[in-house]
Amino acid sequence: MRWEGLLEFASRQTGFSSSGRIEIVGPIHRKCPAVVVVAVHKIAERCKQATEGSAAIGLERTEEPTRRAMPSCEVIVVGLGAVGSAATWHLARLGTKVLGIDRYKPPHEFGSSTGETRLTRAAVGEGVEYSPLALRSNEIWREIETTTGETLFVQCGCLTITGRPNKSMVHGVSKFFDNIVASAERYNIPHEIFGSADALRSRFPQFAVSGTEVGFLDKGGGYLFVEACIRTQLRSAVDCGAELKFGEKVVTFNSSASGVTVTTDSGERYDAEKLLLAAGAWMPAFLPEKLRQCFSVTRQFLHWFEIQTNPERFSKDCPVFIWEVNRKSILYGFPLVGDPGAGLKVANEESEGIVDPDSVDRVVSEADKAKMYETYVRPFLPDLGPRSIKTAVCLYTNAPGARFVIDTHPEHEQVIFASPCSGHGFKHSAAIGEALADKLRNCLPRVDLSPFDLRHLR
Ligand SMILES: Cc1cc2nc3c(=O)[nH]c(=O)nc-3n(C[C@H](O)[C@H](O)[C@H](O)COP(=O)(O)OP(=O)(O)OC[C@H]3O[C@@H](n4cnc5c(N)ncnc54)[C@H](O)[C@@H]3O)c2cc1C
Repeated sequence: MRWEGLLEFASRQTGFSSSGRIEIVGPIHRKCPAVVVVAVHKIAERCKQATEGSAAIGLERTEEPTRRAMPSCEVIVVGLGAVGSAATWHLARLGTKVLGIDRYKPPHEFGSSTGETRLTRAAVGEGVEYSPLALRSNEIWREIETTTGETLFVQCGCLTITGRPNKSMVHGVSKFFDNIVASAERYNIPHEIFGSADALRSRFPQFAVSGTEVGFLDKGGGYLFVEACIRTQLRSAVDCGAELKFGEKVVTFNSSASGVTVTTDSGERYDAEKLLLAAGAWMPAFLPEKLRQCFSVTRQFLHWFEIQTNPERFSKDCPVFIWEVNRKSILYGFPLVGDPGAGLKVANEESEGIVDPDSVDRVVSEADKAKMYETYVRPFLPDLGPRSIKTAVCLYTNAPGARFVIDTHPEHEQVIFASPCSGHGFKHSAAIGEALADKLRNCLPRVDLSPFDLRHLR
């Protein structure tokens, strides 16, 4: 083996490459592989001892080591939000050695899983193929509640209101209302249909319907406590043996036939057999250019407005609601959670264009609050007043057709990526996490994820 060959070999073995001066310790004999190996080991040892001083010995990390030592864990999960926390917990409870890494400490307010609550629906307007995910997720939330004593899921029902049932469209999905009805029929989901505005008004006087509206009450729907779901799944994952690292940002990953290596901003490298990327709004950066362009990240607002009159209308028996109030966006909202003084949570889906998750403005301006009140609150929820009690900013990662995109990474067969957002992913995240854990363990997923693979991305 020639000098250059040896250095290349050493660098492949150790993941370090020569930059300028390199000092080989130990004897080297051209024709004796054993001696070469000793030399390589010595390089590796010195690199390990001197990570700080790697420049001093003329070595630095290469981007793509092609051989590694035995991985220290079976699966690495990058991103421990809705999807990552669920997958990590399922992997750990099934006995898989899993390492979860997050750049922050979830639950946190910087990604897509913040703002106290998320609406859940069993009959899903985005397409009947989503219903099995929601139904299985609801079972999982209940299982977690039973084992941990936490409250995660309040099944108060979900009311969808539309004034144009035949032309219903929500976040770009046409036939939204028809899909809900079809889902309910296919999966036997208990529901009630309100065929006129009068029928809606007499049952739900808090909603100022004005003439042509009809409604669908999905009795399997309700809301989830978003931060509690993530916190509880992460705690359960640790109880089952998962290792979690917070405050470390994954900057790169690479793979070879023997596994994957992940490098973080603190200079740590972690090896595993497989990798799950569940990085939410930061996911596109991990994908090839062409695929990355299919995603757009938008800034969304959550508002809590004061309840001026009839607070009882928003507590007992009040469902979560989605209302197609205009052609631009829906108005959606929640019943009272806790004290009436905390206000009622409502939102729309308007956005002002694509943002960078690292530099997004997290302040909701007075003008934005006023616009929300005037356009979406005052005409439809007359019991609410203009005083804004609280706001939050949260990120949608949108894919065409509001689809979820979950598949093997196009360039790395040991890597799975999961982007189930488009503004409606939380309710499904428990089942997606479970199915991803199955996939990563080479088992048949309990719920079929194939409707969300790359073939369905238009
Ligand atoms: C305003 C708003 C309202 C919504 N309402 C609903 C609703 O009512 N019902 C519903 O079902 N869904 C709803 N959604 C969608 C739902 O919240 C998302 O689909 C879901 O939270 C996405 O989960 P995730 O795991 O993909 O992302 P996240 O939960 O954001 O997790 C991604 C994680 O990856 C980490 N990460 C990113 N990059 C790196 C890196 N390089 N290294 C390490 N870690 C990294 C982040 O820190 C983060 O913790 C809403 C979303 C928003 C924004």
